[in-house]
Formats: sequence, structure tokens, C-alpha cells
Amino acid sequence: MKQLLQQHSTFFETQQTKEIPFRKAYLKKLLKEIELQEDAICDALYADFKKPRFETLAAETQFVMAELKSAIRKLHTWAKPKRISGTLLNWPSSDYIYKEPYGNVLIIAPWNYPFQLAIAPLIGAIAAGNTAVIKPSEITPNTSRIVAEIITKVFPKDYVSVVEGGVETSQELLAQKWDYIFFTGSTRVGQIVYESAAKHLTPVTLELGGKNPTIVDGTAAIDVAAKRIVWGKFLNAGQTCIATDYILVHTSVKSELIEALKKAITQFYGEQIEASSDYARTVSKNHYQGLVDMLAGESILFGGERNDADNYLAPTLVDEPKRDSPLMKGEIFGPILPILSYENEEDIHSYISNYGKPLATYIFSNNKDFQNKLLKKYSFGGGAINDTIIQITNKKLPFGGVGPSGIGAYHGRTSFDLFSHSKAIVKKGTWLDIPLRYPPYTLPLKYAKMIKNLF
Ligand code: NAD
Repeated sequence: MKQLLQQHSTFFETQQTKEIPFRKAYLKKLLKEIELQEDAICDALYADFKKPRFETLAAETQFVMAELKSAIRKLHTWAKPKRISGTLLNWPSSDYIYKEPYGNVLIIAPWNYPFQLAIAPLIGAIAAGNTAVIKPSEITPNTSRIVAEIITKVFPKDYVSVVEGGVETSQELLAQKWDYIFFTGSTRVGQIVYESAAKHLTPVTLELGGKNPTIVDGTAAIDVAAKRIVWGKFLNAGQTCIATDYILVHTSVKSELIEALKKAITQFYGEQIEASSDYARTVSKNHYQGLVDMLAGESILFGGERNDADNYLAPTLVDEPKRDSPLMKGEIFGPILPILSYENEEDIHSYISNYGKPLATYIFSNNKDFQNKLLKKYSFGGGAINDTIIQITNKKLPFGGVGPSGIGAYHGRTSFDLFSHSKAIVKKGTWLDIPLRYPPYTLPLKYAKMIKNLF
């Protein structure tokens, strides 16, 4: 690992990555290769956890292609030094912000969107002029392999490379002195990454998880709410970091919502959900067993069917799990949807305040005061009113968590800025050199007390 990083450092030192045409050429090559390999990428994700082709196209390949296209189109503008107005104190001067790459970036990816979450951060890293090493997740070995193949084909190995492997490999990589670490995964491992980075004072982005509430009040359009919740929740078989974790529904519409949720599930996946090609599997035996264990003793309103041989767990609705139940302790990250009722805003607060700031929150309501009140009161990564998940589809919106759900944000221009250091530069001429700042200080102190007006 040390040698690998050394090779990347040597490549960075050649200064090639500082050239915009160089970066653009590789972004274009990457785009072309992903276009060529799109079918093979779909096959890899299907082999890993039967991810439906449509979902791979929409949320993995087409998503990163859109990021690539915008980076290729806008890089020139993003990378330009930005002229800032000067201060009277420095007059005359020209002031700028220069965007410069950090150097050598480490990207550690999870398994749930194993292609998108390895490649999307890479786009920002190389657009900003860094070199990069990607460590894909070992839990999705077929996708890990194809990520490695694509990267090996597109990039010189000292510029961008892939190291496949599990926890030990990840830890060996983390022991090195990187210039930036971008991690996507669980809050638990995020803490380990942050500690490793602290040893070298390496800046980090941590894209973590959380327990995302979806609140449905008495004014919500229940049928549409149910469809949008079911779509966002059971996409990728519930293994989406910004999916609804639990529903808080006003008691007046609870039974109506439950019926609408059941109807939407059947409408989307049919009566024989296991046979539907539009429904993924849970990713591993371990993860599957964890989910099955969470259901023990719970009141199942719908679903609950399973097939141990295939890690299949049906979309499952659970009625009012206890607050101290395994389901309500941490992030569920699977196709189980607890439904809890509330009477008033104190009830909502008593649930939400139980957990750290989540990655996402969704509010279904036609009452603007209620929407605004919740938006103001609660801190979370991002979210939507009367929809779920879709905040991720706008590149102009930063994507990231807050507190335990993460540090930093990316996508679109935000990715470029994230992987760039903003270097502040003041350019001065030498034709004028006002002596007042130099010792011995002769300016009367009453004038020194006015300096604040010159900044
Ligand atoms: P994870 O934290 O178990 O693993 C992520 C990566 O870290 C993998 O590459 C793994 O090899 C590595 N890793 C695991 N244990 C490690 C250790 N002890 N030391 C060093 N490296 C280690 O996460 P996961 O199970 O792959 O993904 C699911 C989690 O990721 C969920 O919590 C989900 O919410 C979160 N997630 C967040 C986002 C986001 O954008 N915020 C996106 C997807 C997933």
C-alpha cells in the first residue's frame, strides 16, 4: 500500500493532473468506457444481489454518466481562478480564489450502490485534479471486479487505481498518509475512518447512514404518499441510505395509509413478489439474517415472507414496534417498514429526538405551516416534501449528511469544490508602498482604531 501511494504521489508530482485538458480527456475516456460496459455493469449488479436492470441504469450507470457529462461541460468554468473584490487595507490589489487539488485521494465505497458510490466521488476527485485509489466493497464482488476492470482500462495505474479487498485491505489503506479520504458506509466504520485520518490530519468526507423518518400528517394526499414511500423504500430492496426508515403517521389517517401502502406494493411488484424481476435481494446471508431477527415478535401487517436460499425478504410493513425493539434501535437498511402513529407534535419530537441527525427526512402534508415548522425545527442531511429520495437527482443540490449521518457533501459542482483546496491569493504591484503599517508605528492610535473599516 505504501508503494502504491508512493507511485500515485510521483504521478501527482509530474503536474499532469493540474492541466484541465488532461482531466477532461480522462473524464471523457471514463464516460465512453462506462457507456460501452453498461450491460456488463447491469449483469454484475444482478449477479451480486439481483438488482433490477432498470434500477442499475437509473441509479448507477446513467447517474454517473450525468455527473461525468456535467463535469466535462463545466470543468473549465469551475476550475477558473475566481476574482474577489479587494479591501481598502490592501489597495491596490487583485484578489483571487485558486482551486487546487489536494493530491492523492482514497475513496472507500459500500455495497448498496456499489458502482455509483465508487465512481461518483472519483469524478469529483479527478475533475479537481487529484489522483485516486478506490476500494470497492467486498460484499458485492462482481461489481468490485468490473469497477477494477474499467478503471484499469481507462487510467494509467499510478493515476487512478482500484484495490479490491475487505476490512483488512481497507485498514491497510487507511494507515497511509492520504491527502483526502472520501468514505461512504456505516456510521460505525465512519468513526474508524475519521480516527485513522486524524493521525495524519487528513481531511475527510464521511457519507454515512441514519434513521430517516417519513412524517405523514392528516392533510396528506394518502394515495400519492403511499406510492412515493413504497417506491423509495423498496427500491434496491430497502438498501438505500436515504430511504424511509420508519413512518410517523397521524392517527386520523393511519388505517387509510396502511391500506394504500399495501395496494401500492401489490401494484408495483404483483401478487408473487418473489417472482418479480423488479425486486432485488438483500445483499448477503449476514445482512439477511440480521433483518429476519429484527422481525421476531413484531406485529406484521403485510409481507414477512422469505426464502433463506435466496436472501429474499418480501416488502414488510410492521405495526407499532416498541421503541426499544431491535427495529427501532438503529438503521434498518432493508425492506422492513415500521409504521408508528402520532397524535401531536410532541409525539413526533419524542421519536425523532431519540436518534442523531438523520441523512434524510420526508414530510407528506398539504399544510405549509406544518412543513415549514418541521423544516425549521429538525436538522438532517436533505429531504423532500411530498416525495422521497428524489433530492439526490438534482446535481445542483449538495448531497451529504450532518452530525452522525456525515461530514461534507458532493455531486455536481459541489464535488469539484469538495476535492479542491481554495487557495486565497492577493496580487500586489510594487509601484505604491504605503509605509503606515511598518514599525516604528507612528500612526496615532485613534486612527489605528478605525482599521476595522478598511478590511
Ligand atoms: P460499511 O461501513 O460496513 O462498509 C463500507 C466500506 O468500509 C467497505 O468498503 C468495507 O470494506 C469497509 N470497512 C468495513 N469495515 C471496516 C473497518 N472496520 N475498517 C475499515 N474499513 C472497513 O458499510 P456497508 O455495509 O458497505 O454500507 C451500508 C451503510 O452505508 C449504511 O449505513 C448506509 O446508510 C451507508 N450508506 C451511506 C450512503 C451515503 O451516501 N451517505 C450511501 C450508501 C450507504
